Amino acid sequence: MARSAQPCQECGREIYFEGLCYQCRGRKKREAYLVMSDRQIEEAIQDIVEHIETIGAFEKTYKDFNALLAYHNISTEKIAEAALAKGVFYPSAIYRNASTAVRDRLIDRLLRPDCKNANDLLLCLAMCGDAVVLKTFYELENNPQPWRKKLHVNPSVYAQYGGWSYDENGNRYEVAYPCCYAILPGVPADEAVKIGSLREDHCPVCGCRLVDMLTLDGNDARLAFLRLGGKVKVPVCPNCAVMSDKILVRYQVNGESRMEIIEPYENKNHMDEAEVAQLANNARVLGLTREPVAPFYACGGDEVCTIGGFADWIQDAQYESCPDCGKTMKLLAALQWDILSDYSEGTLYAEICTDCQIITLIHQQT
Ligand SMILES: [Zn+2]
Ligand SMILES: [Zn+2]
Ligand SMILES: [Zn+2]
Repeated sequence: MARSAQPCQECGREIYFEGLCYQCRGRKKREAYLVMSDRQIEEAIQDIVEHIETIGAFEKTYKDFNALLAYHNISTEKIAEAALAKGVFYPSAIYRNASTAVRDRLIDRLLRPDCKNANDLLLCLAMCGDAVVLKTFYELENNPQPWRKKLHVNPSVYAQYGGWSYDENGNRYEVAYPCCYAILPGVPADEAVKIGSLREDHCPVCGCRLVDMLTLDGNDARLAFLRLGGKVKVPVCPNCAVMSDKILVRYQVNGESRMEIIEPYENKNHMDEAEVAQLANNARVLGLTREPVAPFYACGGDEVCTIGGFADWIQDAQYESCPDCGKTMKLLAALQWDILSDYSEGTLYAEICTDCQIITLIHQQT
């Protein structure tokens, strides 16, 4: 017999079990990490160091590590040292603050022609991401080791996981902003960032009502790092966002934007007016944090929306090339559908080329 719907004891969202909804449980865990004292954080880091070989089990060590990185931006130096000693190379973010000695030992392993775990080592070194790693990657790309044949992509694509890459001359560029803000329920909404505002027009492909998935006020001091130069609207068809290869938005800084659906899988609309309205309604309680959050905030285990920072990729990292200038676009925002809609899952990633004033939206789900 189907259970009847009842309200979440915290937020009132309809659920089919007693207690708290999935979102509220995630938020409570995040809040518990956020209130940790410096001493508790140090103890937790020590605990991770001592149990580093258990991190691949996705249990306590793994969750603690991701949460401390996401919510307290911890230095991973000691953890990297312990991980190397035990031969642990996952998750790669462990090596983000690796000492130069640890970094060099990763490079030594990678440069062996018979290296068995080049995939993991490339990801770990991408996280280190300093000038020595750049030089190593560039040389490996031009003079590949035998193991390269077993990998699908070049080191320059691995580098993107660390938020950077390089061109054919070895010149570095960034694909992630080091600055990050979160868009959270319960934070008072203001004009800086609005999500999911209903529009009057409808999708030319499927007829679904459009929403401005993002409205960004580039004049707000918090968003200065994006260098938008004005107010930017990102109109999206919530149906085609999931049911197409990607969406392109050409924007002007006066709020005018043109949306183009690229390679729609079909032209049927699966979202009725009520579902689009629900999305807009859920988004109304979200606000941009006053202060920046840590760059890996999206990877802490809770469902959050972020501007800037690093993405929690559901599948492989996917940095699009700008259709106009060809340069790799930068991660602008990551919006988790669960927060917005009961009918969609996964994450919508927005990437930007501010030179050409283009935003690409791509969807990933499990
Ligand atoms: Zn709830
Ligand atoms: Zn559509
Ligand atoms: Zn461009």
